[in-house]
Amino acid sequence: MSDLEGRVAVVTGGSRGIGAAVVRRLAADGADVVLTYRDAADRATAVVDEVERLGRRGLAVQADVRDPAAVEAAMEAAAARFGCIDLLVNNAGVFPVATIEELTLEDYQEATEIHVRGVFAGVRAALVHMPDGGRIVTIGSSLAERVPDAGLSLYSLTKAALVGFTKGLARDLGPRGICATVVHPGSIDTEMNPADGPHADGERALTALGRYGRPDEIAAMVAHLCGPGGGYVTGVALTVDGGATA
Ligand code: NDP
Repeated sequence: MSDLEGRVAVVTGGSRGIGAAVVRRLAADGADVVLTYRDAADRATAVVDEVERLGRRGLAVQADVRDPAAVEAAMEAAAARFGCIDLLVNNAGVFPVATIEELTLEDYQEATEIHVRGVFAGVRAALVHMPDGGRIVTIGSSLAERVPDAGLSLYSLTKAALVGFTKGLARDLGPRGICATVVHPGSIDTEMNPADGPHADGERALTALGRYGRPDEIAAMVAHLCGPGGGYVTGVALTVDGGATA
């Protein structure tokens, strides 16, 4: 039997990049998977097709994480289709880069709505459907730990907030056997941060391994935390960054 056989997962922002890799990996490990997306309906449908080719059930739901009602409706749809939500992976995100002199309050509003309020709303809505023993894994960033360049204050602020939130979740949900963790990726080759992008050489140079990570390398950590190996891991952030923060 696969590690996640019979489990139901929801992955926000599962249409591409790290989220899509997490969807594929959780399905390969036996879970049925609901993914959300903002715009990319075709790509979301293609990822669901991959889930189904793995012999699992999949569902794509359009839900902008800036809209708490849409997030709640997505969790309702997941539970209505598959019965519950055992595993929640908060992954949807954007990468605003600007210095503090350039940033506006509107930028702040947008980034916190996506990375902070969106996660808060998703967790609240998913918990209604989460049985004891569930898992909540939130994708942070190594930039919450170390900020190696200018222009990252807003992004780092939002990702650092997730660590405090997750520690609180661990305390609130421990009595139900629900584990909450953060995974901090370093430089991962996606459309958000392509390994051949303008800043890629500088990012690569920061790593101990001298290379970008792949989305499936983040998915492997998420799958570990969602599986039997994650049963005593809660209230912590785990960094998967090729040694960039070493
Ligand atoms: P991508 O840009 O490749 O993918 C982003 C995903 O998030 C897409 O599925 C997108 O949906 C979805 N999304 C974006 N905004 C919203 C929204 N408002 N509502 C719902 N879904 C949304 O990014 P990555 O895969 O690289 O990043 C995934 C996560 O990993 C993010 O939280 C990011 O901050 C974090 N991260 C990434 C790193 C990297 O180097 N790549 C490093 C550290 C952290 P759609 O396709 O519909 O637009």
